[in-house]
Amino acid sequence: MNLPRIDIDLGKIAHNVQQLKILYGTKGINVIGVTKVIGGDPMIADVLVKNGIEILADSRISNIIKMRKAGIRAQYLLLRTPALSQVEEVVIHAHISLNSELAVLKKLSEYALRNHIIHKVVLMVELGDLREGIMPSKMNAYVKEVLNLEGLALIGIGTNLACFGGISPDADKMNELSSIAIRLEEKFKITLAMVSGGNSANYNWFTSSKDEGRINSLRLGESIFLGREALRRKPIPGLFTDSFTLMAEVIEAKLKPSQPYGEVYQNANGDIPGFKNKGLMNRAVLAIGTQDVIISGITPKQNITVLGASSDHMLMDNSKTSLKVGDIVAFNLNYSALLRAFNSPHITKNRIGLYECASIL
Ligand SMILES: *Cc1c(COP(=O)(O)O)cnc(C)c1O
Repeated sequence: MNLPRIDIDLGKIAHNVQQLKILYGTKGINVIGVTKVIGGDPMIADVLVKNGIEILADSRISNIIKMRKAGIRAQYLLLRTPALSQVEEVVIHAHISLNSELAVLKKLSEYALRNHIIHKVVLMVELGDLREGIMPSKMNAYVKEVLNLEGLALIGIGTNLACFGGISPDADKMNELSSIAIRLEEKFKITLAMVSGGNSANYNWFTSSKDEGRINSLRLGESIFLGREALRRKPIPGLFTDSFTLMAEVIEAKLKPSQPYGEVYQNANGDIPGFKNKGLMNRAVLAIGTQDVIISGITPKQNITVLGASSDHMLMDNSKTSLKVGDIVAFNLNYSALLRAFNSPHITKNRIGLYECASIL
């Protein structure tokens, strides 16, 4: 198997999906599977669908097209609010999109009509994280307009927190979203089938809340794939946090000084590095670099320390491990590191694990 590579344990992913569906299902919350961190990988998407996920969501229309071409049957939701320039693709390839701009909604309507499609839309509400979303005071005006746009079906509202501003989706925020939903339903005599409260950061709210109000949907990526909530990155009890393992090969192992010598200027990353002199050090170079992975987001499974990296080389303190040329080092990945690594064409994706156990349900 080519290196570097990511070993993907499909059985562990299947287990996490099953557990999350049960956990959130107990209080009537539907889990939407978010595939952007795995670049819309059809085999992994298939594990989600086989374990009861009905809606697959991705921020990139190209990933949605990839999954649909591979024959993965689901409802597809576009997470990133559509760009005006991609509206036709969105209508053709996604069943549902999250929205916050009237100009885009009008174009979606136009292309839906032209293609004889009813495109489902969810309006995003700004609740303080300051990424996408309509200010709550403007929701009435938006709903009024959208209800008049042919070719569109307003199926719900949603919000996204803990992404840009790091704002917690706590009880206050969720209650606010619930009351907006109730207010809109009463005012316009409509039913909002989907009230989508957020992402993997909503775990703490969910476990501590006694009343979920109108929230009946969450869009989960990190919890499914890394078994963690996203506010403090704590493991969720009973879930696997190691479904993905990054493997890289040692291409040089030598005893060298620990401190670079000569005149110090910028390195490949544009930094002026400072290294302490710790005497001679057993060092190893791995065949992987910053174009493949976010170095600060990976943790070696062995007792070896990452010293840094340039585009294609990673430097390790090999004092405690004595790795040799040809040895393989295994790493755990956080969300950002997984996102980068999975989308690097230079990293082989190796699917392992008991897929049978994914098909039991
Ligand atoms: C990425 C994304 C999600 C999923 O976030 P996780 O923290 O991985 O669960 C949900 N909603 C939107 C709008 C997103 O962009």
